[in-house]
Amino acid sequence: MSPVIANYMEVRAAIDAAAREAHRDPAEIRLLAVSKTFPVEPIRELYDAGVRAFGESRVTELAEKAARLPEDIEWHFIGRLQSNKARKAVQLAKVIHSVDSAALLERLDRIAGEERKRPAVLLEVNVSGEASKAGVPVAELEPFARRAAACANLDFRGFMTMAPFDAEPVKIAAIFELLRLTRDELEAKLGRELPELSMGMSGDYEIAARHGSTIVRVGTLIFGTR
Ligand SMILES: *Cc1c(COP(=O)(O)O)cnc(C)c1O
Repeated sequence: MSPVIANYMEVRAAIDAAAREAHRDPAEIRLLAVSKTFPVEPIRELYDAGVRAFGESRVTELAEKAARLPEDIEWHFIGRLQSNKARKAVQLAKVIHSVDSAALLERLDRIAGEERKRPAVLLEVNVSGEASKAGVPVAELEPFARRAAACANLDFRGFMTMAPFDAEPVKIAAIFELLRLTRDELEAKLGRELPELSMGMSGDYEIAARHGSTIVRVGTLIFGTR
C-alpha cells in the first residue's frame, strides 16, 4: 500500500478512536486531506482509494491541480483569500473555510451570484486572540454571522479556527470548546443551524475530534513535511 494511503487510514482510525472516547459518532467528523505544496500524484493515489475531499491554501495552485485531476474532487479552500482571487476560488471550491472579513464575504456573495454557484462558507474565527492569526475575534462574530446568513448566494455552514501551534493540550481544547459554545449560541440567536466546525490540524486533530470538530484539516501527517 502506498504510504499516503496508509497515513490517511492511520489518521482516520485515530479520529474514530478520539470520537468514541468523547461519545461522538465518528461519522460526524470528516477528514480533509490538505494537499497544499504536494504534487498531483499522491492526491491521485488517495483519489483512487476513494478519497474525495482535498484542501488547498493558494488559488493558483488549486487551479493547476484541479485542471489535472478528476472533476468530482471536492476542493476546500483553506488559505487566506485575496480579493482578486475570489472569483477563481468560487469557480473551483465547494467549501471556503477562510472567510475573515465582511468585504470578502460580500464579494464572494456577489461573485457566486454571477457565477451561478452557491459555495459553502465558513467564517474564520481568531479564538485565541493571537495577533498573528487571521480571523474575526469572538466578540465581533455575531454581526459577521448575521451578514453571512443574509448572503443569498452563499451557504453559510459554520466556523473555522486555528489553535496556537505551541499551546498545551488543555489550552487547545479550551479554544475548540469556546468556538463550539459560541456556535451553539449563534445558532440560537440566528435561528438557523450552523453544523460545521473546521478545527484541528496534524498537531491537534485528535483534541479537535474530542471537542466538537466536524472537519479536521490534516496535511503533514498524510503527505509528509512541507
Ligand atoms: C496547512 C494547513 C493545514 C494543515 O496543516 P498540517 O499541520 O500540515 O496538518 C490546516 N489548516 C490550514 C488553514 C492550513 O493552512
